[in-house]
Amino acid sequence: MHQRLEGRRGAESAHPSVYASAEASSPATERAPAPARSAAELAAAALRSEKPDLRKDAPASVIGAGISGAWQALLLARAGRKVTLYERGDSAMTQATSHWAGGMLAPYCEAEGAEPMVGEMGLRSLEMWRKEFPETAFNGSLVVAHPRDRADFERFAKMTTGHKRLDADGVAELEPALAGRFREGLYFPDEGHVEPRLVLAQLHKRLIEAGGTILFESEMTPEDLDGLVIDCRGMAARDKAPELRGVKGEMVVIKTAEVTLSRPVRLMHPRWPLYVIPRENNHFMLGATTVESEDELVMVRSALELLSAAYAVHPAFGEAHIVEIGAGLRPAFPDNLPRIAIGNRRIATNGLYRHGFLLAPALAEKMLNYVERGEIDNQVMRCL
Ligand SMILES: Cc1cc2nc3c(=O)[nH]c(=O)nc-3n(C[C@H](O)[C@H](O)[C@H](O)COP(=O)(O)OP(=O)(O)OC[C@H]3O[C@@H](n4cnc5c(N)ncnc54)[C@H](O)[C@@H]3O)c2cc1C
Repeated sequence: MHQRLEGRRGAESAHPSVYASAEASSPATERAPAPARSAAELAAAALRSEKPDLRKDAPASVIGAGISGAWQALLLARAGRKVTLYERGDSAMTQATSHWAGGMLAPYCEAEGAEPMVGEMGLRSLEMWRKEFPETAFNGSLVVAHPRDRADFERFAKMTTGHKRLDADGVAELEPALAGRFREGLYFPDEGHVEPRLVLAQLHKRLIEAGGTILFESEMTPEDLDGLVIDCRGMAARDKAPELRGVKGEMVVIKTAEVTLSRPVRLMHPRWPLYVIPRENNHFMLGATTVESEDELVMVRSALELLSAAYAVHPAFGEAHIVEIGAGLRPAFPDNLPRIAIGNRRIATNGLYRHGFLLAPALAEKMLNYVERGEIDNQVMRCL
């Protein structure tokens, strides 16, 4: 067990306010008299206004070793800070949503249903992933549809950029296992994917190589810690961000040596984009549903749809073995956009929703730019 440290006021820092309050701009005469506040309310307000401790020699603590915390801790350590990453679970990371993710890095495909900032930050993240894992093949992604879903396919093509249209021969050339199965496809050559469980472990290892420390089975709250505190607790941060909600994503892992794919294959589906992602050792991840529910159980209908999607991509998946079925809760704000909140003696990064792997490196870079140089990005940062 590590020592529990007493809380301390953060050092005063140049802490620009992102949004001027509407109240401040209204004439004083029109304002209602402020209600008297109790001592407890005043103390809470004082605590809220405390700035994070940005001094270079202050210890930096990151809470939560999912994909967000892992990248934030690594960049802070590489910037020369003394970093400790705290994780309540063990090194298997099964308590993290990141454990259940597909690891698709698909800024172009995601543009179909997400704000432009997701695509922009996603492109920056892709660069960072490529630099961090140069040995990983970022092979693009392929979108296919059966004739009955052709209208959805055309709509998807119109809503996205960065793709090349392929005919049946083009699909077969790209993925020989799919020869004769689809009349056309959309190839997004600049996309990629990573294996979440492998890269999480590698990022943790690189944190230690960069001089940082990681403590598993160490549950922390921001109040427990001194110095610079970065809160990356995902869904568990609802005590500080009550508007966070969990959006269930269900997935299945299957195994077969009968099919070989070199990149994720997305199949048009009327309800959600379903994809088959090749993983090491003949494993394939089938994902993912998007359900407004906060239980972490897999519905029969979802499992049927995921397995049917694989079967529709290639019938040999019908002979595959089921290795794992699971679900995770994606932490999401009401606008489904990520947020870096600065204040309450901490910096909190959350709301990565469907895009944790796509956005984590770029968000970590923005956090670092704020910590090192006070740079504010109005798109994602909120000062409390
Ligand atoms: C099925 C599925 C498929 C997905 N596919 C993709 C995809 O292809 N591409 C993509 O970009 N995104 C994908 N996502 C979304 C992505 O997984 C999430 O956006 C991302 O994992 C959120 O990361 P996080 O670090 O914020 O949260 P988490 O991964 O949940 O990490 C938070 C960590 O904090 C720890 N913690 C909590 N409280 C404490 C505490 N008090 N003390 C210490 N530790 C604590 C938790 O144990 C956890 O490990 C998918 C999600 C699901 C469910």
